[in-house]
Amino acid sequence: MQECIFCKIIAGEIPSQVVYQDEKVFAFKDIAPAAPIHILIIPKKHISSLNDLGVEDAALMGHIVGTAAKLAKEFGLDKGYRLVSNCGEDGGQTVYHIHFHLLGGRQMHWPPG
Ligand code: 5GP
Ligand code: ZN
Repeated sequence: MQECIFCKIIAGEIPSQVVYQDEKVFAFKDIAPAAPIHILIIPKKHISSLNDLGVEDAALMGHIVGTAAKLAKEFGLDKGYRLVSNCGEDGGQTVYHIHFHLLGGRQMHWPPG
């Protein structure tokens, strides 16, 4: 996926503030934080969106959610956090490499905008 900016971030071709990585997932700070803590958690494998997941990705998604909980603890989000994946145009997705926003450090509101 040569044109994908998140694949380029994983490859180190675009610099990022990496907070965690292992053989399957990569986590880095969002360039335009929407909360005091705003981390993007992505699979190293290119998957465009929630709509493109297969049954074979179930364990990977579980691993991402587990990573989010681990990072939330590490970043002191003891009072809670939000984990969200925007999907498609109406969902507000702008980068088509599936990602989960870990947001925290302030009171979140509902419904979201
Ligand atoms: P989406 O709008 O697709 O749900 O989220 C994409 C996120 O990626 C946005 O929050 C945006 O700020 C972030 N983003 C876009 N380009 C870059 C980049 O080059 N570096 C980093 N760290 N974040 C980016
Ligand atoms: Zn990608």
